[in-house]
Amino acid sequence: MLADLHTHTTASDGVLSPEQLITSAKAAGVTLLSITDHDTISAYKSLPAYTDKDMQLVYGIELSSIWHKTGIHVVGLNIDPDCPALQSAIETQRNARRERAKTIADKLSKLGFTDTLEGAIKAANGTALGRPHFARFLVDSGQVKTISIAFKKFLGQGKPGDVRENWPALETVIAWISEAGGTAVLAHPNKYKLGNLKLQELTKDFCSAGGHGLEVISGKQEDALTSRLGTLAQQHGLLASCGSDFHQPGQSWAELGSVAALPSGCTPVWENW
Ligand code: MN
Ligand code: MN
Ligand code: MN
Repeated sequence: MLADLHTHTTASDGVLSPEQLITSAKAAGVTLLSITDHDTISAYKSLPAYTDKDMQLVYGIELSSIWHKTGIHVVGLNIDPDCPALQSAIETQRNARRERAKTIADKLSKLGFTDTLEGAIKAANGTALGRPHFARFLVDSGQVKTISIAFKKFLGQGKPGDVRENWPALETVIAWISEAGGTAVLAHPNKYKLGNLKLQELTKDFCSAGGHGLEVISGKQEDALTSRLGTLAQQHGLLASCGSDFHQPGQSWAELGSVAALPSGCTPVWENW
């Protein structure tokens, strides 16, 4: 089997539509897929009652949270999409994005840019609103030359539009996923650039808060990292998950279905589904 349990579509910041993602995942030989868009499950709306004998699709989401001032992503797998708690969680996340977008727009207007909130919302076209949409609007409206300049001068790290996200606490998003009957997975543990001790601490807190699994494999990564994360999962009694974190074709480190086998000794997240 080939499991890819972390992927994005146009419902958040991916470039393939949900249908295109399904087709590409099948072509890549994926047999167990989850679409885990940022703070939304709307991709599944266009895939009514998906069933296929060659590839199983489980409902998923990637929720943003905060742990000790560090932004932490938690993937919720095998969730019940109709659970009211999940619906209100998604609404809460949408509001947090809106509030942040308003702050970004205020900062940009102080720099002389106009209509950025409306423009960014339009650019987001119903998907999870973020800085890339401000960048796209600034370019499309002729206020900035390129996306890269927009980030370099106005939206990137340390620039006025780099507004801290107002996400809920780590334990809150784990509780949401649990309420929706899902498996809460600590996403891409290596991406937070935490030292060994900090990562241990995060994993411990994740467990105490009721988290279930650790993403032992996130896209193409070195074997040493895989075995380190496999050990971490086992030390804490966490299930092991794996996914490409695919956003768009052509990124060799995150190609659809390009997911190595989990280390032996790890219990895969799908074991009890
Ligand atoms: Mn993303
Ligand atoms: Mn992420
Ligand atoms: Mn992701």
